[in-house]
Amino acid sequence: MAKEELECSFCGRKKPETNLLIAGLDAHICDRCIEQAHGIVIEESKQNEDNGLSAELMLKKPLQIKTFLDQYIIGQEYTKKVMSVAVYNHYKRLLQPASNDDIDIQKSNIVMVGQTGTGKTLMAKTVARMLNVPLAIVDATVLTEAGYVGEDVESILTRLLQAADYNLDKAEKGIVFIDEIDKIARKSDNPSITRDVSGEGVQQALLKLLEGTVVNVPPKGGRKHPDQKFIEVNTENILFIAGGAFDGIERVISKRLNMQAVGYSASIKEEVVDQNNLLQYIIPKDLKDFGLIPEIIGRLPVLTYMDPLDEKTLRAILTEPKNAIIKQYKKLFEMDEIELNITDGALDYIVEKAIEYKLGARGLRSLCEEILTDAMFELPGSETKKFSVTKSYAEEKLSKTKLKKLKAVS
Ligand code: ADP
Repeated sequence: MAKEELECSFCGRKKPETNLLIAGLDAHICDRCIEQAHGIVIEESKQNEDNGLSAELMLKKPLQIKTFLDQYIIGQEYTKKVMSVAVYNHYKRLLQPASNDDIDIQKSNIVMVGQTGTGKTLMAKTVARMLNVPLAIVDATVLTEAGYVGEDVESILTRLLQAADYNLDKAEKGIVFIDEIDKIARKSDNPSITRDVSGEGVQQALLKLLEGTVVNVPPKGGRKHPDQKFIEVNTENILFIAGGAFDGIERVISKRLNMQAVGYSASIKEEVVDQNNLLQYIIPKDLKDFGLIPEIIGRLPVLTYMDPLDEKTLRAILTEPKNAIIKQYKKLFEMDEIELNITDGALDYIVEKAIEYKLGARGLRSLCEEILTDAMFELPGSETKKFSVTKSYAEEKLSKTKLKKLKAVS
């Protein structure tokens, strides 16, 4: 074939009519056809993704869900197990074929009780990552009853829509993590007391979302629906995960346990109560005594607790998860072709300080940042190709004033 006769084997355009003509073995393709084909590939893979949700999920049994969580979350065995089952059941519920046996599988919304920084948000994030569904993280403290200053509960769904990039289908299968649910507890145990703006009223408003309803959601700055005032979102299949520290709930639990011990015979007394981790004995009634209304508790049927983080767990959090903090720093240095090494002594020291100053898991990152800032400033572009952080180096970088500063911001 003479050169000027070359043409795209797909659309037939002659070479001069194209910007680019790429030759294959026996055929040619022009830039426009490549673009079009690329579009098809993307569209196709998007569709597979949407459909893939069901297929992929059915393949993932609770044990596999837990194995996935294990890669990112250290410890918290009980919650990981409960979460795996709840997520599995939730999506089984989504996939149940319509039947007329009158058995409706209820939603398995979850409530996690545990101190801040023990991994509640991480748990929700990891589940969303595994399922490849949008996740909205909202803080219950900003929610108020409609008509009051603050955000209406519907704003939760606006966030979810945004997280789903306004894909309604995806949003309706998403996950909402409501943090600090304990902060909307009724302030007094007396139900007849005047409603408190941010308390029971918000719980009432949340109820509807949790059980499944169609809500008119303001898209708020939704680029893709500039002329649409509201989007109707069905919350039926949205998985709600609530979390809270429930400060002081240990007293409620302890009181109940003591009363049980008095009420029953000696056999219960013999069961040793682990005073260091009373949350493990939590039951729904404790949430009610704390100030959540029974209806809310009923809509969050899966109740689980987070273990406090001990030294061993904190140490593992530094290095073991798939995206562990230390791995992240190593990667940062690697990008400058510097090999970062942090000695065991230095790591133990970081954990020791996190515990001493009660900084928790969140503090680990700030501690590392303090220790490594100078190195991250000075080493890129220098001759150094290997850098080792020893305990004494870490000690030198973490003066008392710096530690106090970290404690103040945590
Ligand atoms: P919470 O929501 O309970 O306040 P987060 O999930 O925000 O706590 O955790 C705070 C930080 O600590 C996160 O950066 C997370 O990576 C880390 N972290 C906390 N607990 C764990 C854990 N069990 N395993 C791994 N990382 C954890």
